Amino acid sequence: MINSQAAICVAPNEPLEVDTVTVDGPQAGEVLVEIVSSGLCHTDLTALEGINTSSVYPLIPGHEGAGRVVEVGKGVTSLAPGDHVIPLYGPECGECSMCRSKRTNLCWTIKPTRDRGVMPNGSPRFRRGREPVHHFMGTSTFSRYTVVPEIALAKIRKDAPLDKVCLFGCGVTTGVGAALAHVREGDAVAVFGLGGIGVNIIQGARIAGASRIIGIDISRSKTELAKIYGMTDFIVPGEDAPDPVAAIRDLTSGGVDVAFECTGVLKVMRQSLDCCKPAWGTSVLLGVEPAGAELSFPPVQVRYGKSILGSYFGGIRGRSELPALIDRFMQGEIDIDRQITHRLTLRQINEGFDLMRNGVSVRSVVMFE
Ligand SMILES: [Zn+2]
Ligand SMILES: [Zn+2]
Repeated sequence: MINSQAAICVAPNEPLEVDTVTVDGPQAGEVLVEIVSSGLCHTDLTALEGINTSSVYPLIPGHEGAGRVVEVGKGVTSLAPGDHVIPLYGPECGECSMCRSKRTNLCWTIKPTRDRGVMPNGSPRFRRGREPVHHFMGTSTFSRYTVVPEIALAKIRKDAPLDKVCLFGCGVTTGVGAALAHVREGDAVAVFGLGGIGVNIIQGARIAGASRIIGIDISRSKTELAKIYGMTDFIVPGEDAPDPVAAIRDLTSGGVDVAFECTGVLKVMRQSLDCCKPAWGTSVLLGVEPAGAELSFPPVQVRYGKSILGSYFGGIRGRSELPALIDRFMQGEIDIDRQITHRLTLRQINEGFDLMRNGVSVRSVVMFE
């Protein structure tokens, strides 16, 4: 058992409470991790606002962290104290039908317990006083110490800076991974929504050799970084063009090869399909829609060859493929520094979410040391 400073969400729409919790030692198949840094992501905000269906309160949010292994539970063989790790909200057990299929990076081995805010044996490791505190996304990286199943930890090289690579726990991997998976050299690309994911799709598209990268957003606040990352054209719907789809077609002689949707707004999802090239354009959905929402489109679009698909964590298998992506960062191919706009102490975490709500930050990172 160990004491840990943590940010606790007691109930939806309450400010996070920074307090001491006790963290029980790792049980079989689990690992105690000391978090060094943790980014603030929009999905944490959905838990704070009570619109995340996998949230059991009170809980400790945070799913974009990096840290060191302190202690391993019984049967853990792939990690040892001192190893540097990134917690994964999507595990990789390597044994289930999904992992063995090689067709997906999803692994639902521990999803039922993860979505109930507990470890695979059914209990949480956090307590405040006598009250149990739940995990969030199986990671809870807004605690100095957290317990994570072995299959949900990516071991990373020790020279990768732990104060930066936390962003590989979500935003950078999701964006860069999706672009590298779908963009080919010379492609014209559209990116709807220039938040933390959108800017990383832009840098991934540039790395993949896109010839034209069109950003679409209702705000001009993120255009500077998007341009540095490779955006060639920018459209504010309603201001720069009445219809963004027509404007994209005009810029690309008929449509883009790949469109990425990062807003979760149904109307924008439809636009991302409409603006693709007939016959082969691909719309990749990353934004999370409101619960129960359904998307409609004319089937002829896909019958004639367009495709519409989705992407989760950039299609990257966390344990086996994330280390290679971090190598590309260490070689200078992927940038992180420019998107970390704010560094905060844990006590400042509520200010960090205000910066996100107000669209001021690209990424805020909580530093534990
Ligand atoms: Zn995230
Ligand atoms: Zn699996």
